[in-house]
Amino acid sequence: MPLTIFQFFHWYFPKEKNLWNEAAAQAEHLQFTGISHVWLPPAYKSSAGDNGVGYDVYDLFDLGEFDQKGTVRTKYGTKDEYLNAVTKLHEHNISVMADIVLNHKNGADEFETVKVIQVDTNDRNKVISKPEDKQISTKYYFPGRNKKYSDFVWDYKTFTGVDACAESNEKCIYKIVNDYGDLWDDVVGDEFGNFDYLLGADIEFRNPAVTAELEYWGKWYVETAGIESFRLDAVKHISAKFYKEWLDCLNRVFKKKFFTVAEYWSQDIKYLHEYLDVMQGRVQLFDVPLHHNFFEASKQGKDYKLPDIFKDTLLQSRPQSAITFVDNHDTQPTQALESFVDFWFKPHANALILLRQQGIPVVFYTDYYGGSYTVGENTIELAPVPNLYKMLKIRQQYLDGEQNDYFDHPNVIGWCNKGSGENEASGFGVVLSNNEDGFKEMHLGNHNGAKTFVDITNNVQDKITTNDEGTALFTVKGRNISIWMKEAALEQIK
Ligand code: CA
Repeated sequence: MPLTIFQFFHWYFPKEKNLWNEAAAQAEHLQFTGISHVWLPPAYKSSAGDNGVGYDVYDLFDLGEFDQKGTVRTKYGTKDEYLNAVTKLHEHNISVMADIVLNHKNGADEFETVKVIQVDTNDRNKVISKPEDKQISTKYYFPGRNKKYSDFVWDYKTFTGVDACAESNEKCIYKIVNDYGDLWDDVVGDEFGNFDYLLGADIEFRNPAVTAELEYWGKWYVETAGIESFRLDAVKHISAKFYKEWLDCLNRVFKKKFFTVAEYWSQDIKYLHEYLDVMQGRVQLFDVPLHHNFFEASKQGKDYKLPDIFKDTLLQSRPQSAITFVDNHDTQPTQALESFVDFWFKPHANALILLRQQGIPVVFYTDYYGGSYTVGENTIELAPVPNLYKMLKIRQQYLDGEQNDYFDHPNVIGWCNKGSGENEASGFGVVLSNNEDGFKEMHLGNHNGAKTFVDITNNVQDKITTNDEGTALFTVKGRNISIWMKEAALEQIK
């Protein structure tokens, strides 16, 4: 069965709904739709308590167990509810992908007075102040947890930099002068000179006490929660050397290779290649350029040349390393990286990741379940993408077979999967349009004599019968998609 990941959250998932209980309740359904991995959000205590999405980590050892930051539970529920969700997903043969956020910490317990130098926010290699003593928020000892699981204290020696001084809200980045000098750590890429620093208190991976603590935490987390795959947050800002050693350590301890997806957020394929090369097969990467192409295609409409949809993507250059997705919690409306694919193009984009053999796709929560939220004056309503359930059922059962592309017209493209000889119901064709009604002559071979196909999206009502060789003109409505299958398959994708 092909791998399919489900991102089971979005940025504005309401805390009242308790995501962990929701994931447990949906486990059976997700298994039925062929989901192999569920990606759950960061499970540890956020600096914003039970309002934090989880990317502003306060305490990695608090999975909703201790009264810290004004709450025992996290936004998603308690530790027991989390562990129950993982158990329920496992009972349905679904791997749990844990979100690993190790670039920074937020919400320090105390300030420290430390020697720092200010750097230019646009060129972090450029120092713009003399070394000076500043009060910075870098002391973490987690009084609410009281040393349970770990007595490690984080202080200025465990961080590379911070972004504001205690006494003002001045916008600035300070490099901490510590045992590892006054330079940032090595990272892949050269945005802003060096993009080690993202936000909060940036973790110092050159400190061996830090890497030892994070390896200890990784072991504790895997053993405690029983997770078996990772999504690594913000690797653009983290030394590749650290994650190589961290993954090698966990793979060695647990005698397995954890399936690992890293988030290197760049549209520039050259950085993705560079990161993959440095990591030497330890990780796969989200195909950010592909998401960007989907977004552009949805904005440009008929002016976008559909045969270019895979141009400069990982899917095109390194399909074995590509984790494909349409949208995520960072690209959804009102978020910082907002680049939400327009609704009319969502079926196109989802068909392009789910109904083809290359890449491992991620289905986004709101694309499947929909979502509704209010930010300031804006009320956002996100509708579920039509026919997504059917696409997942097709992926689950009918992806084997020879795949042929017909990417030969700027506004209408298609591909078909010829299916296998043994399965009468197999074989399907997909046609996408970004302009007018159209058709694609495709050869669906591998079956004897003429066969009749129906559009399972119901966008086209008429049936289509091939000639004796299995060739026909498969039609599509303007700015729409059609998925042509044999009637014998209909019962299997209900
Ligand atoms: Ca960093």
